[in-house]
Parts: sequence; structure tokens; C-alpha cells
Amino acid sequence: MGRDPRFDPLFEPIRIGPVTAPNRFYQVPHCSGMGYVRPNMMAAMRAVKAEGGWGVVCTEYCSIAPGADETPYPSAALRDAGDVKNLRAMTDAVHAHGALAGVELWYGGHTSANLLTREIALDVASLPNDAALGVPVQSQAMSRDDLVDFRETYRAAAARALDAGFDIVYVYACHYYLLHNFLSARLNRRDDGYGGSVENRVRLVREVIEAVAEVVAGRAALAVRYAMPAQPDDDPDELVAAFELLAELPDLWDIVLDDYRYEMGSSRFVREAAHRDAIARAKSMTTKPVVGVGRFTSPDTMLAQIASGAQDFIGAARPSIADPFLPRKIDAGRSDDIRECIGCNVCYAYDSLGAPIRCTQNPTMGEEWRRGWHPERIAPRHADESVLVVGAGPAGLEAARALGERGYRVLLAEAEREFGGRVNREARLPGLAEWARVRDWRLGQLAKLANIESYPDNRLDADAVLALDVEHVIVATGARWRADGVGRHRREPFAGHGGAGVIGVEQLLDGASLDGRVVIYDDDHYYLGSALALMLAADGAAVTLVTPAATPASWTLNTNEHSLTLEALIAAGVELVTARGLEAFEDGVARLDCVHGGETLAREADYLVPLGARIGNDGLWRDLDARRDEFEARGGRTLERVGDCRAPGIVAAAVYAGHRVARELGQGKTKVKRDRVVI
Ligand code: ADP
Ligand code: SF4
Repeated sequence: MGRDPRFDPLFEPIRIGPVTAPNRFYQVPHCSGMGYVRPNMMAAMRAVKAEGGWGVVCTEYCSIAPGADETPYPSAALRDAGDVKNLRAMTDAVHAHGALAGVELWYGGHTSANLLTREIALDVASLPNDAALGVPVQSQAMSRDDLVDFRETYRAAAARALDAGFDIVYVYACHYYLLHNFLSARLNRRDDGYGGSVENRVRLVREVIEAVAEVVAGRAALAVRYAMPAQPDDDPDELVAAFELLAELPDLWDIVLDDYRYEMGSSRFVREAAHRDAIARAKSMTTKPVVGVGRFTSPDTMLAQIASGAQDFIGAARPSIADPFLPRKIDAGRSDDIRECIGCNVCYAYDSLGAPIRCTQNPTMGEEWRRGWHPERIAPRHADESVLVVGAGPAGLEAARALGERGYRVLLAEAEREFGGRVNREARLPGLAEWARVRDWRLGQLAKLANIESYPDNRLDADAVLALDVEHVIVATGARWRADGVGRHRREPFAGHGGAGVIGVEQLLDGASLDGRVVIYDDDHYYLGSALALMLAADGAAVTLVTPAATPASWTLNTNEHSLTLEALIAAGVELVTARGLEAFEDGVARLDCVHGGETLAREADYLVPLGARIGNDGLWRDLDARRDEFEARGGRTLERVGDCRAPGIVAAAVYAGHRVARELGQGKTKVKRDRVVI
């Protein structure tokens, strides 16, 4: 199958200053949790994107000086010759696939606590550190000498970028890092010719652009990453006026939003192409090519953006993580094979934790070098053998799919009529519809494989499994929520559990509707508590969301959806109670103890929904494990359990577990490489 000619505009080469991009697919700079700490992982991950057809592949933010240090988050770095060598590994790998390599030269300012280097961060003013860690230090306002040195620092980093082989060199002027702060009408109150009027506020950015342009002249393109207002009529930093003065200076504009909640919005709150207006606004003000993101996963939306001239490149971070081969699939007329990003922001969460990114949809993400996994290639079956997968949730579906790709005869049995497991229920909650893509992509792929036998509506017990003629059994039977309040905070069931008015999460997920006063006790801390609260509030219940944590839905701080989650809860009238455990629910009263030893609070309620830990459905696995001799006597070889039935976790962990068990069947455990700096 070949490319549908309709999509030709996406594959037209285009010049960016002195270089030419082979097509319109542009992997914008995105965090990877790899950076200078894990350069081989980074090079291999970016190389797969280039192989997958992205015409431009960029680094993550790349530190230009020791004062730009976000330990424990590993940025890339171009501070010395060793860094040049490390990043050469990436540019060589990207060039080998015919793509251009871009580097995003970065200096943080007050966002950098410099925990490793112990440098004082410079910025437009002395501002408190406000990165996620919130270290109690401030930046130093730059002196005139600092401003001169800063241009030289950028210049030297740009020269190293050329040595490292980059084709596109960025001046990074957004995300409230130093250069953005100089542009900002709110933050920049300097009186030295670099602040005050818009002409003065753009001065440093202009000087840095000119300095870098001199260095890269004719050898690499110069790009500027820049924020436009997320709300068209609200421009507190006066970024549009500043853009006007800079519009023709770079070779390329990379446009983002000035509100990170929307720029990197989760699909719960932000839809595909949400940046469209901001990108179009920039495009209307410059003759230079413009790239912008929008979690584009639909080839038709991409085409509309390019064909209408609204933007010159389809920028992507998450869609390129979920499917590094997205461009090649469109090119080959295989758009329905695209593994669409679900907008869960789990990738971002792991970077937020200082760890390499991973992806709910793409289990090979981050394992390209460490485990040698490729998103589109997998070893053929080791023998002409059959595998039974029990349970068709995320883990079972992915295991069956990957085993099917390998060529085994796969039997997939599921107790319910519909395949999908937890995703079926959770995707019905407010904002979570795109999570169904975890199921749908896998079902689409399974349907193309002739060697899969599907058995829905089949709850298997050990006798039924042993009666089947298979060499391998993978148990992926999932987990269920506890209804007794035991979780991270409570080790014992609360008083009154199992009594009147206590409603298990499973009942709600199965469609039970509640009205009256409902207390949700959320000791899970991720999306489910807030999603249930929003669902019940929309149905008219008076909801109180209680958590032992300092803030509701605290883990969503990592997925960059916390602020919008709280905004939605407040708008829905949900009462938020923090730092409270659940002591008891008796006679229509929830007693909530203070985690800091203060007085117990009483809340009258008709219903109490406890959300704590989960229990793996491992009964089948334990029964089979006890009858291993019988299994082996009948020709059975391997018996595994994966996903939530082994250890309850997030959907990404279940998909990964399913993929891994499929990769390793007949191969032994994968040898894992430990990354090290190349120098
Ligand atoms: P995971 O996230 O680990 O994939 P899920 O809970 O999403 O787990 O999916 C587990 C699936 O296993 C559910 O769809 C459930 O109906 C199914 N299941 C559980 N026990 C059995 C069984 N004995 N036989 C067949 N299917 C089962
Ligand atoms: Fe998309 Fe989620 Fe994968 Fe990130 S982790 S790329 S948001 S599917």
C-alpha cells in the first residue's frame, strides 16, 4: 500500500534558513529524563524517531552553563567538549536516517535551583525559585557585565552545537526561563535599557539571536521557541508586541502557549489542535516558517493545518512518543496503524520524577537502547508453540498483540463480553474517553492477525486452563479496588466498612448512580478520585473529596493536570478536604482524623466511597502455580502472571508488562544495558 496522494503536502521538503527539512513532521524539543545523564538512551530514542520518518528531531532543553542545572531532572547539556561528544552520538544517529537534528539551547534562571552545580542562577530580577521542588533560594538580578557574558555563553554553546553536528540551533525564549522573563511586561522592571518599554524588553533576546546567528551563519538554521498567549485576549506579558519586533530575525519560529496547563494539557481537559489560534497568530505576523504542536494524531487535521498554510510543520512531542513511526505509517497508507497518544501525560510524569520517560501506548519508549527494543520490530517466535492469555485488559491485550506479531498461535480468553479490562469502565468517566485508545489500537491490530483466537465471555478456572493444549499460559486477570479504606495511609479497615452506605469503587465504575451527600475518601492520589467526584457532581450529588495528602489528586502534579483538575472540582462545587484520614463511617457520619494529630472532623453523608489500594486477582495464577507439575506433565512449559494481577499499578505499567512477557517468551530475560556518559 502506498501513500494517499491527498497527504502529499505533508511530505514536501521545505527550507529552514540554510538547511532543508525532508518533510513537515517535526519532533519539537521534549524532555526525556535522559539528557546528559543517559546519552546513549537519548541518542537511540531520538534515532528511532528519525527512522520513523520525523524530518526534524530535536533534543530536550540543553543547558549552556553550570548555572542552568535542574538536578534531579536531567536536561541535555552543551557545556564542554565531553557534552559535544555525547550529543554527537545523537546527531550521527539522526542523520543516518536522513533527518535534521535540532538542539534547544537553554538557560533557566530562577527556575533552576542548581542543586548539583551550586551556582547562583541569573535572571531578569532576583526571583524566588519556583520549579517543582520549590527550593528556598532566589536568583540574582543580572548586572551589565552578566548581560555581556550571557551573550558570550550562548555564542560558545552555539559553536559547540555546530561541533556536535546540529542543523538547527534554538534560542529558547519561553516557559518562563530567563529570556521569557526579560520579555515579560510583568516581570521585567529593569531600568538599564533592558526593561520597561517593549523595545527594551526584547533587547536581550535580540542580542542573543544576533550572537547565535553570527556563529551558525550558513551552517545551521536558527530557531526561536516562543510563547503566544493561550487566551487570545489576555496577554499579561505583552508577548504579541514583542513578537512583532522579532518576527523576521530567526529562520524558524517554534510557537508554544504562555500557559503550560494548556500547552502540555492532558486529554482530560485539552483537545487535539488546541494551539491552533496561537500558531496562526504567529504565522500571520512573520514570513518565516512556523512549527507548533497540538497533540496531533489525526492525519486529516495535520493535512488541514499544512494545506491551509496555518503552519509549516506539524510539531509533535507526545504523538511522536506514542508512535515514533507516525510519519512512515501515513506515507505507507497505513494511517489506521497509528498508535495514537491518549494524552495521559505519563511520559511527562516520569521526567517530572527525574526518570526516563515511558509511554502508556508505546511500551518500547525509553527501552530502545537499554533493552534494545524497537517499536516496529520484534523477534519471530522461537518455536511453533501456542500461548493462552487469560484476561484482555491492557496487559493481556498487549501480550496477545505482541505474541501475535511474533507468530505464535495465541488464544485470548476474557471473562467479560467486551475486551478492554479497566479501560472499558474508566474511559466512560468525565474527560477520560481518549484512554479507550489503549484498547482500540490493540483490538485493531489483533484483528489483522490470523493467528489470534479470541474467546470473550469466557471466565477460565485452573481446570479449564489445564484442559487446553497450550505450551504457555500468561495470566493477566487484573485487580479490584479494596472497599475497606486500606491504602497508603490506613493499614487497618475503617470502622463500619461493609456497612450501609459504603459503596465500592467497582460499583460506581459498573454504573451505580448516587444522589444525596457523598464522601469520596481518596487515598489513591491519581486521577480516579477526582474523575469519580466530577461524575457524581455532574449527576447532582453533593460531593466531598477527602484525602490524607496535602492536596487532592497529588500525583497529578506529575502529569501536569493538577491545576486544571482542581479548577474543575471547584467549579463543580466539590468540597475539598485535605490531610484527613478515614477513621469510621457509621450511622451516616464519616469521621475524618487529622493526619497531623489535630481534632477529628465529622461529615454527615448518605454514601461513603473508599478509594485506597487494590488487590490483584491472582487466584487463577495461584491455583495454576500449585498445579505446575500437572501443567508440565501435559506439555506446558511456562506459566507467567503480568500486569495488575501481579502488582497493581498504572495502565502504562500493565501495557509494559504485557509487552515484556511477549518479548521474552523463549528468549530468556532481556539483557539490560546500563547507560554511561560517552566521553
Ligand atoms: P490489567 O491492567 O493488568 O490488564 P485489567 O483489570 O484491566 O488488568 O484487565 C483484567 C481482565 O481480566 C479483565 O477484563 C477481567 O474481566 C479479566 N479476567 C479476570 N479474571 C479472569 C478469568 N478467570 N478468566 C478470563 N478473564 C478474566
Ligand atoms: Fe501520549 Fe500518554 Fe504516551 Fe505521553 S504517555 S505520549 S501522553 S500516550
